[in-house]
Amino acid sequence: MTRDLAEPSDALLERAFLDEAVIEAGWRAPGAVAADGVALEADDTHASLRAMVRLLGERGVLALVLNAADGGRFDAVQWRAVCLARERLGHASPLLELAFAMQGLGSYAISQFGDADQRARWLPRVLSGEAVAGFALTEPGAGSDLAGLATTAERDGDDYVLRGRKVLISNAPIGDVFTLFAATAPAGERRRVSAFVVPGDAAGLERTSTPVLGGHPIGELRLDGVRVPATDRLGEEGDGMRVALGTLHRFRPTVGAAALGF
Ligand SMILES: Cc1cc2nc3c(=O)[nH]c(=O)nc-3n(C[C@H](O)[C@H](O)[C@H](O)COP(=O)(O)OP(=O)(O)OC[C@H]3O[C@@H](n4cnc5c(N)ncnc54)[C@H](O)[C@@H]3O)c2cc1C
Repeated sequence: MTRDLAEPSDALLERAFLDEAVIEAGWRAPGAVAADGVALEADDTHASLRAMVRLLGERGVLALVLNAADGGRFDAVQWRAVCLARERLGHASPLLELAFAMQGLGSYAISQFGDADQRARWLPRVLSGEAVAGFALTEPGAGSDLAGLATTAERDGDDYVLRGRKVLISNAPIGDVFTLFAATAPAGERRRVSAFVVPGDAAGLERTSTPVLGGHPIGELRLDGVRVPATDRLGEEGDGMRVALGTLHRFRPTVGAAALGF
């Protein structure tokens, strides 16, 4: 089935909760980028994705996933606009849609829970598309059941030392910055998980690519003594589950919107 998406359909416009600003930013602006994004599809999907992120940054589409205080389009992220953009971009190219969505998923915790330094260091580059973002939660023993999380972050002076393995991480092979979750307290304790900002080029971080259908850049992160300054922790020790679920709950409805576009 082909659909003409140049203009919002009557059905879309009849969704009374969508005002003109949301339709303009969430539907027409991503639509104007779609053809150029599709033209970037190539066999090397890692390079394609990086180029698509850059394109979405240059054309202002990534402003949808940040708050105005960090250069975003709306005072606070408008989830209706993110839903529209995921549907619109997903219809054009699943890879282009992924490029958009992961910039949001990977940076949302920094914008919501990060301090001024963390936000200033990463969010301008996420917004411009210069830095590719990722969200690293899942592990071999921790998917639906996050109680199985086994990656540890042990305090050592002003740093944490991270050890463990993350799997099924979108953008693992190419990401410049990850929101990453690790245990700062023993199993069984309450508030045992904390969130960290980890650069993709951190010493001790090994990234591998997992081949999947459709060229989705996804893979593993192995952390073997990765040193993260305590200043790169997001929120307080033990806030990790709140950060992770706060992010996932926000993005969950937008996954359905993307599926409408595919
Ligand atoms: C394309 C893709 C991209 C991804 N990108 C990321 C990413 O960027 N970052 C990240 O952190 N993770 C990512 N993931 C991982 C994803 O979040 C996990 O796959 C998800 O959390 C499920 O975990 P699991 O695969 O271990 O499945 P499991 O938790 O083992 O679940 C397997 C099945 O069992 C069912 N199940 C589980 N528990 C119960 C229960 N108690 N009762 C009944 N049924 C149950 C589930 O519904 C599912 O059908 C990605 C996954 C995919 C496929």
